[in-house]
Amino acid sequence: MYYIKNGTIVTEKDIFRGFIGIEDGLISFVEAGEPQKTTPGDINAGGLLVTPGFIDIHCHGGGGALFADDPGTAYEAHRRNGTTGILPTIGYNMTADKFLSSIKKIAEIDEGGILGINCEGPYINPQYGAETSLARAFSRAEMEEIYNAGKGLIKIWMFSPEIDGAEELREFILSKPEIISCAGHTECTAVQLEGIELICHLFDAMGPKERPGRKAIHENGTAEVVLASDHLYAELIADSKGVHVPAELLKIAYKCLGDRNILISDAVSTKENGSDLNYNEQGELSGSLLSLNKAVRNMKKHTGISWPEAVRLGTLNPAKLLGIDKKTGSIEPGKRADLVIMNEEANIHLVIAGGRRL
Ligand SMILES: [Zn+2]
Repeated sequence: MYYIKNGTIVTEKDIFRGFIGIEDGLISFVEAGEPQKTTPGDINAGGLLVTPGFIDIHCHGGGGALFADDPGTAYEAHRRNGTTGILPTIGYNMTADKFLSSIKKIAEIDEGGILGINCEGPYINPQYGAETSLARAFSRAEMEEIYNAGKGLIKIWMFSPEIDGAEELREFILSKPEIISCAGHTECTAVQLEGIELICHLFDAMGPKERPGRKAIHENGTAEVVLASDHLYAELIADSKGVHVPAELLKIAYKCLGDRNILISDAVSTKENGSDLNYNEQGELSGSLLSLNKAVRNMKKHTGISWPEAVRLGTLNPAKLLGIDKKTGSIEPGKRADLVIMNEEANIHLVIAGGRRL
């Protein structure tokens, strides 16, 4: 048993000065005030925020490396920034061979923090997204090859519901209980969203089809359908300048979807200081340099929501989507001691995973 003392603890609904008891890798209790006892392993949080470890369900890379090339480096960069659960994400912008070999490579990693794989494509509407020239037509044989390469670890599979072959892909995904169906890079309608559980980066790479002759009438596109939904979860990218999603739209998403919002990094790499935006060789916005600790801080700054509300968007909400919220995702007795000590700017002081300091 050891204590994290003197922390500003962010639980699911509250924030208070207190301490956490940790034993055998689990949280044994959370209390306000100071502990009566001390142990040699105690950690003094110095008044800083203590949050659950972050869970990033959409992340391509970090530390200068893509998961597709060097998963160890990418994983380490995000873990250092407090992400204790991650879904390495393989994107549509690679060749068929590379897509398959990347899935295989990640499926072989035996590391507790890697919770599975997010397939962002490869079957998308090429009108939406940065550098979509490698996006290709649906192929049943390739889909099965990708699925088998994932060895049951594909947890999210994104596609554009309006493309040819989408019905076959949707049926396949819905027949696999371990896979969350995700729509993105799309201009799909409410009807086409049937059976879908998650929306890939809401507001980004998403359209209303332009309708000629409707000047000054607000177009109802996929984003509006999602905002009106009673069940969909939505990924959100909250960068520091509100470029991926402006502050007003972040607020609207929070007002409409509440705890069905999930912050993602969509990172292709990470950067400790400076801009968190990434542009590809064509000058298009392409992924980010975010890590989830910063996304949570940015969301709080842009929308004015509280720490518990902002933190849930990067911890408990993704844990619920993935069905692991009984084990992790909030500071609660009995859950795994996945914890982050950081300041209000989300600069990391210490990361703890399964009760062990990293
Ligand atoms: Zn992505």
